[in-house]
Amino acid sequence: MFLERSGLHIFTWRNIEVSVSMWYGLIMAMIVFFPALSGGSMLAGLIWVVAVTISLLVHEFGHALVAQRYGLGPSVLLHGFGGLCMMQREANTDGEDARVVFAGPAAGLIFGGLVYLFATFAPQVAYASTWSATFVAALLFVNIGWSLVNLLIPMWPLDGGQLFHLILRRFKDEESARRITLNVSIFVAIPAAIVGFLIFRSFLIAIFAVMVVMSCMSMLQTGQSLVGRRSGRSLATASDFHQELLAQAEAALSDEDWREAYRVCHQMRASGQMPEKMLNRVWTILGVSATEMGEYEEALDYLRRAPKSAEVEQAIVRCQREVA
Ligand SMILES: [Zn+2]
Repeated sequence: MFLERSGLHIFTWRNIEVSVSMWYGLIMAMIVFFPALSGGSMLAGLIWVVAVTISLLVHEFGHALVAQRYGLGPSVLLHGFGGLCMMQREANTDGEDARVVFAGPAAGLIFGGLVYLFATFAPQVAYASTWSATFVAALLFVNIGWSLVNLLIPMWPLDGGQLFHLILRRFKDEESARRITLNVSIFVAIPAAIVGFLIFRSFLIAIFAVMVVMSCMSMLQTGQSLVGRRSGRSLATASDFHQELLAQAEAALSDEDWREAYRVCHQMRASGQMPEKMLNRVWTILGVSATEMGEYEEALDYLRRAPKSAEVEQAIVRCQREVA
């Protein structure tokens, strides 16, 4: 979520591509080597890394398999702070979206439950050595403990925060749901940072919580949409903020105030992602206003990204004539 969205492709299962980012490799390497620095065993770290990676894959495939059933084109990325299930298309309804989100922690809880049953009914295998006991403990901790935290804490971008946002959308308009979700996330993340640092002595929890606070505050300021945050491509709905700006740009365009139309469109582009249809309109307005301002080469750049229309074609012809 905070980091890069691409990585090294490692395998594909049921048409779902799985990639791993450099950060994931680095953090996992740290978990393996750190205990060794204080005289501990690297094997314990390695067992944790294997358990965490298996658990993340179970969780992300929970999301991805349900997303695939709805035809959303999912792929999985293991990155710095865990996993990410990216979708090529937005869910058609909030109900579908909620099921995709819920399926991740649900898969973890089911898997954790199976591990628990195995350890209960075959203790001679599960606890055969300290290493197998460490492995079982790690699987239970991540799949049960983390799945519950992830599901129940209403903190964006955890699954619980996403479900909280989807539930709010049933009762509120999107802008109110967005604001409440982000404010609650900040409200929850601050004590989480303190507890993580002071009680669990975990820098990672504290850093994660601080990043949540920073990213939620910036999303509140820029008006960035929460809908489609998990999607790699276009967003289904625009934030009110973007809609307001587009209205301003359209008004400036019809007043032939090219400079203002151009400025507002750039402000929209700087304020985060927007739906494809809206972005197409932004390219058109940028192209037309840049043409009128005599910035022909720049205008051509925008016009080529805009969908074909009479006004776009006309502006392209005019720019080409001026540039030649
Ligand atoms: Zn998840």
